[in-house]
Amino acid sequence: MKYVPWSKIKDWFCTTCGECCKEFIVPLRTYETTLLSNIFGFSCMELRVGTTYLKRRLDGRCIFQVKRNGKMVCGIQPLKPLACKMWPFAVFETPQYEHRNQAYFEFRGEIFYVYVNPCCRGLIYGSPSFRFINSVIPEFIELRLGLRKHQLRSTSLKLKTAAEPITTLCIRP
Ligand code: SF4
Ligand code: SF4
Repeated sequence: MKYVPWSKIKDWFCTTCGECCKEFIVPLRTYETTLLSNIFGFSCMELRVGTTYLKRRLDGRCIFQVKRNGKMVCGIQPLKPLACKMWPFAVFETPQYEHRNQAYFEFRGEIFYVYVNPCCRGLIYGSPSFRFINSVIPEFIELRLGLRKHQLRSTSLKLKTAAEPITTLCIRP
């Protein structure tokens, strides 16, 4: 699978297809492991070759994915790990893949290289729109740099508040 430089994308909207929470495993940072294990217990995660990941159900879906209004959505929206917040974007300080010039993005005087995972179903290919350049990509860079936690345009516009009450998700043994 080849990452696509941002400049090939016209715009991106999460369609809440829910497939990314089934197809990919989610690595956790140390503070996320601590936070989630304090709330849900260690049974919501698993250790593989020195890295902790969110546990998946037998059908491959993340243990925190829930069905709401016929859509499979994140049940821990405010608490979801950075890897989930960043999907399907990848932001680097140095070029990582092909098309260095097409991945170049300047943000607040700093140089970044921004790519998109083409597996996401919310991508619209074409010449980048004003919204994509000025709202969407900057928000992903801010998330990556830790400058923002709240998601506005980097998640589904329809379901960004679709968090289940944590008590209904508690899986602590
Ligand atoms: S981020 Fe992409 S793959 Fe994931 S639910 Fe949204 S549209 Fe689907
Ligand atoms: S934590 Fe939420 S966004 Fe991340 S994989 Fe699980 S259900 Fe999907």
